[in-house]
Amino acid sequence: MHQFSYLKAKSLADAAALAKANPEAKLMSGGMTLLPTLKQGLAQPSHLIDIGGLKELSGIEVKGDVLSIGAVTRHYDVASSAAVAKAIPALSYLANQIGDPQVRNRGTIGGSVANNDPAADYPSAVLALNATIVTDRREIAADDFFQGMFATALEEGEIVVRIVFPLPKRAAYEKFPHPASGYAMAGVFIAETAAGVRVAVTGAGPGVFRWSDAEKALAGGLKAGALDALTVDATDLNEDFHATREYRANLVQVMGKRALQKLLA
Ligand SMILES: Cc1cc2nc3c(=O)[nH]c(=O)nc-3n(C[C@H](O)[C@H](O)[C@H](O)COP(=O)(O)OP(=O)(O)OC[C@H]3O[C@@H](n4cnc5c(N)ncnc54)[C@H](O)[C@@H]3O)c2cc1C
Repeated sequence: MHQFSYLKAKSLADAAALAKANPEAKLMSGGMTLLPTLKQGLAQPSHLIDIGGLKELSGIEVKGDVLSIGAVTRHYDVASSAAVAKAIPALSYLANQIGDPQVRNRGTIGGSVANNDPAADYPSAVLALNATIVTDRREIAADDFFQGMFATALEEGEIVVRIVFPLPKRAAYEKFPHPASGYAMAGVFIAETAAGVRVAVTGAGPGVFRWSDAEKALAGGLKAGALDALTVDATDLNEDFHATREYRANLVQVMGKRALQKLLA
């Protein structure tokens, strides 16, 4: 087993200083992805900087027309928050579909977004809802944040502090979960926002992406059957032993239609 040192950050400033002083260190939030990665030898950090529970990265707050969720907020806390359920019910629903109770009780929204697993649920909500990722250095728009498989705009040692979601008029999420892990084989999040209708797809491609054909089809109004005529080009989608590209393309279409039906119900 690779040797590393464990450091418990006392504050956001402390975490940032520890990350700066130890360029080979890794931040740890819920550890749900990081620890299995360490066990498999896929990451070999010099230090783990534990940011879980830091006050400055905690809390759920609705202020005016935005919902702000601290980076170390666990999926269970998002799923069970009355404030989230009232502000963006689709986000509560999404959080409650992640993995299993153990994963939801440890995994965090900041860890999920920073990790940007191509099959993770939150990135689709962050992108469709036109959220802003607030770090210890700057604010990053969702459209600029996600940069493909496990890649984000985060710089070395940059810490996600919170995610800020403008409240949508309406939103809905539907995914086809992998039967073992719960990760999305395909998930579609539709949001009617002040910036128009935005549709994001996770699980199907190498990274979360906006489904522009669906956005165009819904631009004139959210109407039943508006996605029925769409086909999804499978060329750039993922293919593995779980599903072919064509199967995933079909799943995107089916999840999109289900999300629309739900949103209109
Ligand atoms: C069995 C299993 C099933 C799962 N099923 C699903 C699923 O159905 N849907 C889904 O979406 N996810 C799923 N997950 C992933 C899980 O939900 C976590 O969200 C995910 O593992 C990352 O969150 P974490 O808090 O555990 O992050 P960690 O494991 O602590 O960190 C992950 C990465 O993010 C970095 N990081 C963490 N926090 C920050 C921060 N604040 N700023 C900058 N970088 C940071 C770390 O350095 C690391 O590189 C599953 C995981 C497991 C183990």
